Amino acid sequence: MELQKTEYDAVVIGSGPNGLAAAILLQQNGLSVLLLEGKDKIGGGLSTEELTLPGFKHDVCSAIHPMAAGSPFFQSLPLHEHGLEYIYPDVAAAHPFDNGTAALLKRSLTETAALLGKDQDVYLDLVQPLVQSWPGIVDDVLAPLHFPKHPIDMAKFGLNAITSATYLAKRFKTEAGKGLFAGMAAHSIQPLSNLSTSAIALVLMANGHLKGWPVPKGGSNQIAQALASYFVSIGGEIETGRYISSLHQLPSAKAVLFDVTPQQLLTIAGHQFSAIYKWQLERYRYGMGVFKIDWALDDAIPFTASGASAAGTVHIGGALQEIVQNEKETAGGKHPDKPFVLLAQQSLFDDTRAPKGKHTAWAYCHVPNGSYKDMTEIIERQVERFAPGFRERILGRHTFNTRQLESYNPNFIGGDINGGIIDLAQLFTRPALRSSPYRTSAKGLYICSSSTPPGGGVHGMCGYHSAKQALKDVFNISIK
Ligand SMILES: Cc1cc2nc3c(=O)[nH]c(=O)nc-3n(C[C@H](O)[C@H](O)[C@H](O)COP(=O)(O)OP(=O)(O)OC[C@H]3O[C@@H](n4cnc5c(N)ncnc54)[C@H](O)[C@@H]3O)c2cc1C
Repeated sequence: MELQKTEYDAVVIGSGPNGLAAAILLQQNGLSVLLLEGKDKIGGGLSTEELTLPGFKHDVCSAIHPMAAGSPFFQSLPLHEHGLEYIYPDVAAAHPFDNGTAALLKRSLTETAALLGKDQDVYLDLVQPLVQSWPGIVDDVLAPLHFPKHPIDMAKFGLNAITSATYLAKRFKTEAGKGLFAGMAAHSIQPLSNLSTSAIALVLMANGHLKGWPVPKGGSNQIAQALASYFVSIGGEIETGRYISSLHQLPSAKAVLFDVTPQQLLTIAGHQFSAIYKWQLERYRYGMGVFKIDWALDDAIPFTASGASAAGTVHIGGALQEIVQNEKETAGGKHPDKPFVLLAQQSLFDDTRAPKGKHTAWAYCHVPNGSYKDMTEIIERQVERFAPGFRERILGRHTFNTRQLESYNPNFIGGDINGGIIDLAQLFTRPALRSSPYRTSAKGLYICSSSTPPGGGVHGMCGYHSAKQALKDVFNISIK
């Protein structure tokens, strides 16, 4: 396709949620913006394809969207008018146990707490204050390090968030409470004994009560389509099939924003960077990878625990100690026999995902970065453990090991889906320790991917903050 211009105010490379968010904010501020995507379709981690059999639509990467639905920037956009519809399962997440029961994260805070029996008050003490303060602190949490607008509420959240999940889980008295918390914390993709692994657990639980954990009708790609449709409606230009490996391939622009991770940024623009910035990017650390599997099913997954059959997401990993041990082993380079498996069953809530009466399921487990191991048998055994008869319902499957995932999307280095490990050392200083993490050392070049604060997940806030920085530095436009 012919570009409409030879010169733009800004070019954004990569059309994941962060690239799209950056492009939109720049365009909203009156700039001429070109969004370039290497693949033949936009969306990055927001992709939906018939991976298994005709008529079965699978989310290739992200599936469950508490962060997108709760994103301050995405919420400010008229995405509903551009075709985005979220469906909210009442049971956001279930955590089944070997005794046939399951702990549930329901939309209602009080119901969730009551279901935890002896842990009712522990749950309320931990989650209720965050549910109440979240609307005030969300802008501060999903942002680079700065002085917060609500310092007291932020400090209260921070005191719990900074702890390790293994430490905070000790407050729970029951296996159900401990397991539920461990499953949430395992989204951090780190050993649960690491500092700050409680943060993601608390944020996910609070968001389960505030916004819920929705699935987009038609698949995750609908989020990208709605963002792109809005971007084009305000004058933005998109070109797909334009993989960028050198700055020479770009049209002239005053600002260039990269929705890529440090490893790729070094290849594309490394020669422009100062020695110290290059040194920092070279030392940037990637975390565990994931092994991804999608199933076409003859019927819904027959979980023993009825609550799990009603949940959008199911955390399969059993008791706290088992999850802690398995995540530790994986981080240490092993492939455990009973890994923690994140599973989503979108077709239970969205009948566009599979032919009538049939179903889809989506799952992944953590594996060492760069692993080639096929985890199909191990994952299916874990599902069967809590849903006997599951295997008999499989009509087709599709898998990605970590290297296949990286071939699919070059941002998933070694299968790392967060654009780099989000431990305490890389939480605010990703990708490098600088006054603004979005600014590179080269004038006019910015990084806007999940390798910047606030990190992985579909929320677009990395792109938003990066574009905000570029607007200020290059175009003298300040956004409050
Ligand atoms: C299996 C899996 C499950 C996940 N589950 C969830 C979930 O349920 N919920 C959730 O919130 N998040 C989930 N995530 C994480 C989420 O997808 C990512 O955090 C998010 O997509 C990161 O957005 P991004 O814009 O930074 O990068 P990406 O979405 O990775 O987009 C980067 C884009 O840049 C393009 N690109 C890269 N290099 C170049 C280049 N040189 N030239 C041109 N284009 C380039 C890529 O093709 C891609 O389109 C999951 C990810 C995976 C893989």
